[in-house]
Amino acid sequence: MNDQYTFDDPRTRYPAIDPPEQQQGGTGLQSEMDPVPDLGESTYRGTGRLQGRKALVVGGDSGIGGATAIAFAREGADVAISYLGPEESDAQHVLEQIEAAGVTGVGIQGDLTDGGFPEQLVERARTALGGLDALAIIAGKQVTSKDLTQLPDEQFVETFETNVFALLRIVKAAVPHLPPGSTIVTTASLETWQASPERIDYASTKGAINTLSKGIAQQLAEKGIRVNTVAPGPTWTALQVSGGIPADEIPEYGQDGPLGRAAQPAELAPAYVFFTSAESSYVVGATLSVNGGVPTP
Ligand code: NAD
Ligand code: MG
Repeated sequence: MNDQYTFDDPRTRYPAIDPPEQQQGGTGLQSEMDPVPDLGESTYRGTGRLQGRKALVVGGDSGIGGATAIAFAREGADVAISYLGPEESDAQHVLEQIEAAGVTGVGIQGDLTDGGFPEQLVERARTALGGLDALAIIAGKQVTSKDLTQLPDEQFVETFETNVFALLRIVKAAVPHLPPGSTIVTTASLETWQASPERIDYASTKGAINTLSKGIAQQLAEKGIRVNTVAPGPTWTALQVSGGIPADEIPEYGQDGPLGRAAQPAELAPAYVFFTSAESSYVVGATLSVNGGVPTP
């Protein structure tokens, strides 16, 4: 079986997908996508790098968060995932994978824009896992809106609530409980530096996340807590088929980059594992682009 250590051509290691046009409501169900994204279910091989760790993966039901949750479990961590109610079936798929790895899996449902939920999420994860020493904050909202005069104020607010404010609230609630050695990984985007004119609200949240993470990283390094950021490029996930990009862009999604294809979520998970594992002990406040070769600062 090929795994993430198998020598391979990055252009063809995962298929250059050519998906049909498709759109879903809400945040979308990954299980209904064509093709279904690859979370590394049949490929990710753990080597004990997160043995005994207790991790909360925010937005761990699908896509990059789902792949990260599975990888963390296979590396030996107990894992809590958070998700929105309508994504219950996607969450169950990831929880099955976590439990199959022989560790504890906990699902926590709730809306990050609901007052008090980010703080409750930390508390519930901590109680269920018997502690917490790793956060991977991956949930995100992305809705295309071509004309800023038509961009609803509510969307602008909700995108910032979900992507930026919830992140800070989760970190604030967690920090008093995180022992030295703990890690926090946040999620920016290629759009941190290349704002799409169709997603000015989303792109600006990603710039905010990147800057916020670098500031927090310096504060928390003094407590022995390391904060780093992953900046994904085009990745085949439910985000894209639930209003994230225009439907007519889906068939050629990701094909204009140097590798000529979109990423699968399985290709993002190793970056989160690296930042969470002690092997990155001297890496603090870094941003790792996983975008198929588009230059970033
Ligand atoms: P995804 O849809 O599979 O995951 C996003 C998750 O965010 C959802 O599953 C949902 O559980 C969660 N979420 C959204 N709104 C929420 C809310 N109000 N309350 C609670 N949870 C909520 O898509 P993905 O692409 O894996 O997204 C993961 C992260 O990767 C996001 O931060 C996204 O911005 C980032 N990213 C994705 C791409 C890409 O091309 N897919 C590129 C760059 C960055
Ligand atoms: Mg989802």
